[in-house]
Amino acid sequence: MNERTSHPLKLFNSLTREIELFTPVHEGEARVYTCGPTVYNYPHIGNMRAYVFADLLGRTLSWKGYKLTHVINITDVGHLTDDADDGEDKLEKAAAERAQSIWDIAKHYTEAYWEDIKALNIRQPAHWSIATDYVPQMIEYAKGIADQHCYELDGGLYFDVSTIANYGSLARAATEDGEGRIDTVEGKRNAADFAIWRKTPEGETRQMEWDSPWGKGAPGWHLECSVMSEALLGLPFDIHTGGIDHREIHHPNEIAQNQAHSGCDHSGAHFWMHNNFLIDRAGKMSKSAGEFLRLQLLIEKGIHPLAYRLMCLQAHYRSELEFSWDNLVAALTRLKRILIGIERLREKAPNEPSGNADMSIHQVDEAISEDLNTARVLVIAESIAAMKDHASDRLEAIYKIDELLGLDLARLTRVDLRIRPKNIAITENEIETKLNERQQAKADKDFAAADAIRDELAAQGVDLMDGDPLRWEWSISI
Ligand code: AMP
Ligand code: ZN
Repeated sequence: MNERTSHPLKLFNSLTREIELFTPVHEGEARVYTCGPTVYNYPHIGNMRAYVFADLLGRTLSWKGYKLTHVINITDVGHLTDDADDGEDKLEKAAAERAQSIWDIAKHYTEAYWEDIKALNIRQPAHWSIATDYVPQMIEYAKGIADQHCYELDGGLYFDVSTIANYGSLARAATEDGEGRIDTVEGKRNAADFAIWRKTPEGETRQMEWDSPWGKGAPGWHLECSVMSEALLGLPFDIHTGGIDHREIHHPNEIAQNQAHSGCDHSGAHFWMHNNFLIDRAGKMSKSAGEFLRLQLLIEKGIHPLAYRLMCLQAHYRSELEFSWDNLVAALTRLKRILIGIERLREKAPNEPSGNADMSIHQVDEAISEDLNTARVLVIAESIAAMKDHASDRLEAIYKIDELLGLDLARLTRVDLRIRPKNIAITENEIETKLNERQQAKADKDFAAADAIRDELAAQGVDLMDGDPLRWEWSISI
């Protein structure tokens, strides 16, 4: 047993609402499925919290020595505007509104999502499973459960949730009467029943449709995740993740299908884990509501995306987190302080003997093993960065810890973190030149000239920070 495996990994399981010991289904391996984005629009920063969480979980499993197989899906068909089986297909709707091909829309937003993934230093999963690549398997899967668990209506093939024992136990909802659901589909046997195959309505055409025994149409969103997770990971696998909203409808429906298809009571995954929401002042973030916060907006305003990652890690993944620009800038400052410490350690390291970094790694392992206590891990990393002795050990420890945090601490520099909005006209060279002129004016005791330069820069949005202990030197107002 080494210092990374000395504490048993414990994770909160939404199925039991308890913290449980993680024991893998397959010795030495960890298999994780994450519900990915519906690519009809850009992801907002709340969505990205779900992937920072999934990445942290994956990094933790790797840290613990498990061979990780992580799958994240891309939903390019089937997700309706209402999770509870109502409304239009999100991608068909976007394509009609913008008079564009659905495939172009899916490609554009998938690429935008991958850009955010990269900017947040989220590791590549073993598979990005694209829903439209699995439609034949989905049809086969649906055929396999149709007789015993489904019925047909005009709208398509519906799953009868009463054919499953304990339907909805993940959501803990009183599902007999379909609590919280609006029953708009005539003929449904139970309010919670959901379409696993949606027929293209008479007289309408869809850009994406496939032949099936239940007519031309498209698969239901819930079906997709059951099929892809089973195809790529086998049942049962270790952990299924998603945002907390999925605990109510999407995941209970996946579980119902998994039970129907496997013929056993097992939910399909040993752990179901959910991140809580990132919210803004106005409440729930939404990418359907026109104006929304994208990671690219943060970047355009000059905030390094890893400051956003740190902001997520400061909170526990099961706590709601409120977004504000002040919180984000505070996270940026915190990251910068860590980097200043690292730079100081780097200067000293060549002259320091190395010993061992086990003590702090042991503490980090203890914190991360307690249901991913990243707030504590950050504090440990921060305190190591602030130390002045044993520089090479400290550095080694910080780099190891960053395997969990993913803040790119070995490469990032404090200059990378300077706030610099993309739309500002003045260049960095111009700022530096002005700063040098001002320095000279001060040395010449020409304070009027020094003040004039300060005012000139301020007029262009550049704030100077004389004697700033964090050595920001200047920043640009956002
Ligand atoms: P979607 O693309 O809408 O299917 O959402 C992608 C992921 O983001 C899902 O796991 C959602 O549960 C999650 N999610 C949606 N909104 C938020 C939010 N405000 N904070 C955290 N996660 C969210
Ligand atoms: Zn899913």
